[in-house]
Order: sequence, then C-alpha cells, then structure tokens
Amino acid sequence: MKDGFEKGVGDDVYARLASEYCADSIVITDSSGRTEWVNEAFTRTTGYTLKDAKGELPCQLLKGPDTCRATMQDIQQARKDRQQFRTEIQQYTKEGRPFWFELRINPVFDADGRHTHFVETERDITERKELEISSAAVINAEAQREVERKLVAQTSEWLYPAKSLPELLRVVEASMREIFPEADGELYVYSNSRDTLDLIAHWGHAKPEHQHIAPDSCWGLRRGRPYVYGSADIQFACDHNQNDEHLSFCLPIMAHGETIGLLHLCFRDTRIADVEKAELDGFLTGRRDLALVCAEQISLSVANVQLRQELQDQSTRDPLTSLWNRRWFLEAALREFNRARRDNAPVSVISLDVDHFKKFNDHHGHDAGDIVLREVGEVMKRIFPDDCYPCRIGGEEFVVLCPGHSTDAAADLAEEFRAAISEHRVPYGREILPRITISGGIATFPDAGSEVITLLRAADECLYLAKEQGRNQIVLPESIADSLEKSKEEAARKRTSKSK
Ligand code: GH3
Ligand code: MG
Ligand code: MG
Repeated sequence: MKDGFEKGVGDDVYARLASEYCADSIVITDSSGRTEWVNEAFTRTTGYTLKDAKGELPCQLLKGPDTCRATMQDIQQARKDRQQFRTEIQQYTKEGRPFWFELRINPVFDADGRHTHFVETERDITERKELEISSAAVINAEAQREVERKLVAQTSEWLYPAKSLPELLRVVEASMREIFPEADGELYVYSNSRDTLDLIAHWGHAKPEHQHIAPDSCWGLRRGRPYVYGSADIQFACDHNQNDEHLSFCLPIMAHGETIGLLHLCFRDTRIADVEKAELDGFLTGRRDLALVCAEQISLSVANVQLRQELQDQSTRDPLTSLWNRRWFLEAALREFNRARRDNAPVSVISLDVDHFKKFNDHHGHDAGDIVLREVGEVMKRIFPDDCYPCRIGGEEFVVLCPGHSTDAAADLAEEFRAAISEHRVPYGREILPRITISGGIATFPDAGSEVITLLRAADECLYLAKEQGRNQIVLPESIADSLEKSKEEAARKRTSKSK
C-alpha cells in the first residue's frame, strides 16, 4: 500500500485501500462462480488465503455440518439465473468454527452485456444471529410455558367433574402423557389397610415394575414432601425407583392434610450423569413447578372422587360385606329387566340364605356370625363373575343378579358357590369356626315373571323348597313344578282313598 501513496493516489489505489480496510469479506468469482480474488477481511474471517480459495466455489469451501442445504441450493440457482441474491447462511472457518454471513451476490456484466463475474460480499452477523437464537430460545420457553399452562387448565376442566376413579384415571393418564411427553409416570394410592400403595395408573414407555410399593420405599413419602432425585450432591434413590440413572420426581398426593398417594415421574431422556448442573437447574425450574401443580390437581380430584364414592357407597353398599344392598338390587334389577326386554335376553336371580344361622349365632356369638357373613361376601365376590352382582338384602339373606344368564348358567354358578361355602373354613381368634352351608333358589326373567318382586318371590319359593328338602342345596324352578305336581297327585290320591 505504501507504494501507492509514494507513487501518488490513483483509482486503483483507492480500490486497494477500500478492499484492505473494508470490514466485510469480498469474493470475486468468474462467471461459473469459481473464486478469482478475495479481500483481506475474507481471510481474517474465514482463515482462507487467496491461495486457498482460488478456483474454489466459495460456498463449497465454507460449508460445514450445520450449513443449510436449501440455502446452498438457492445460491446455486441465483448464480445460474445471474440474479442478485441476498441470504443468511451459517458457514465454517478453515479451523471449523461456525459463523454466520449475510451474503450478497451481484452478477457483473461487461459493456456488451456479457456476464463476466460475480461479486460476493459477506457480512459477519454471528453476534446478531446468536442473540436472535438465544432470544428465540427464551420466546420458545415462554411459548412452551403458555402451552403447559393451557394443558394444565384443560386437564383440570376434565379432572374435577370425573364421576368415578376409572374415569379420573383415564384423564390423568392422557393429560400427563401430553404435559410430560418425556417422562414415564405412575400414580399410586394407599390401600385401605394403608400398609401398601397400589398402582392405579401409569403412562409412558416403561412398564411399571411394581404393582404395589411399601410406603417406606419412597423418600418423598417418608419425608412428607416432594423429592427430586438427581439434583443434589448427596442423595439416595428410592427403592421403588427402578431407574436410578435418570432424573425423577416423587410427589406425595395429599388430601385434607393426609397423604393419600404418590405421583412418580421419571425423565427417561435426562441421564443424571450426562447433564450439566446449569442445564439441570434450568430444566428443573420449569418442570418441577409444573409437576407440583399437576400433583396438586390430581390430589384434589382423587380426594373428590373418593369422597363422592364414599357417599354413594353409603347409600348403595352394605357396610359389613361391602356387597350391593337391597336398595341397589331393586334399582339394578329393574334396569336389567328393561334392558333384557329390549334385547330379548334372560336375567336370573339367585336367592341365597345361610342355613341354621340363628343356631350358629347362639353357639358362637354375634361377632363370629358377622365374620362368617363377611366371609360369605368374599366368597361371592370370588366365585361370581364380573357381570353378576352379589347383594346382601337382609340379615343372612343374599341375592345375585345375573343379567344375560339362563337358569342353567345361573344354577352352575350357584352350585359352585354352594360347594365353595361348604368347604370354606373361617378362622376366629385361635379357633376355626365350624363350616356353614347355604341354600338357594333361582328364578329367571321373563319365564318366572316380569316384575322384580315377582322374580324375588319365585326365587324364594325355590329357596324354601331347598330348606324343606334338607338345606345345603340349590333348587331350580322345574323342581318347584315337579313338587307341585307331586303334591297335586298326593292330594288326589288322598281324596280317592277318602271317597273309597
Ligand atoms: P334357616 O336355615 O331356616 O335359614 O335357619 P336360620 O336360623 O338361618 O333362619 P332364621 O331366619 O330363623 O334366622 C336368621 C338369623 O340370622 C337370625 C339372626 O340371629 C341372624 N342374623 C341376621 N342378621 C345378622 C347379622 O347381621 N349378624 C349376625 N351375626 N347374625 C345375623
Ligand atoms: Mg337362614
Ligand atoms: Mg333367613
């Protein structure tokens, strides 16, 4: 440059000065896009000298792993079309460091309009781009939070009106999958005895290992507050946590000041050993608060459903055996008869009564009698399938409503139950109570009548015959017909013998 000043300032000197002091990179290529000349800013920014770049396509020279292919194609197309073109592209220095260029391509034509060169100017916009990317990340995080807020609001709209636990759990599973797509989760509630927690819902990829967990297997439950595993220097994995390599949350589910369950979330994509502390802190800020809100909502709605269930049970369940009560039976039978009428299907009613129960009470006391009645209820729940409904309608009197069951199908079940009861041994304190037996009768809609009371009466008639015939047996309607026939014959025989 010194030479130029010594010789006097001319146009070519100005051009050289401009190129030397210009902050933007300049590349001049031939008409096919191959580099002929680069300025010093180009070498400063990219690390490539004129010697390195000569004859190369600049885009090919500077491309790297994250260079956008579509933008490269746009550049090629603009060159082909000899169009002015502007774009932003991520490229790489000779050492492999990424940077962002604002690239302008200008085709150059001679006096005859023939295309001779391209002049490419490249402005380093790395700082601006990084700012844009980080603010986009902030905006994304904010947008993500907004999405989560909406999901939580939607979830609560479905959680609170849930009528039953199964309905509530369907909402919990679907919404947790949506709110925490990266987490596997389980929901446990305390069993009635409160010595274990039972798995009632789960979602995500991993199949839960435990159907039941012990309350002391969870640090969250033991400490009575949320436990985030994976965030502290000193920490211990819970025994129920099958995947202790990953970040996980144990959130006690509370209602009315009492712990009623546990929400466990395991973030399968977040391996504790692989995550930087700062990254983990950032992740936790959003996810932990969100999980706490979800746990709170689940707590309220589980408590709500349990309360509703208790109230409903009080009016429809027998408190001793937890079987359906008489009131429920009458309503359900009416409903089933109406349905059976439409479907042209049978409904059987089995009437059952414990034999000589008065004597049993007199010998062993009322408390022992109660235990036996409760056991009868348990055996009923075990023997009768889910589509039959065992009910306790009086002291030691039970009925089973069997929709869709013919007399014979109901008779098979009743017989199985009778046999099971006659084998069943009931411990009472240190002793084993003597075996009890039951008698039963069956009536089937529509053969035996179309009213619930008529059916119940018909089933009871069979039951009385079973008692008469010696107890510990099930009597079917045809036996009633036979026995009627026999008594008619007997009466007739007596009449003829009298008249003789
Ligand atoms: P049968 O074989 O003819 O049915 O004789 P039974 O003694 O079972 O019949 P009965 O109807 O004379 O007596 C029923 C007894 O059931 C009377 C009562 O002491 C007993 N009982 C009714 N409800 C309960 C109850 O809730 N708990 C207990 N422990 N006993 C009950
Ligand atoms: Mg009885
Ligand atoms: Mg009775």
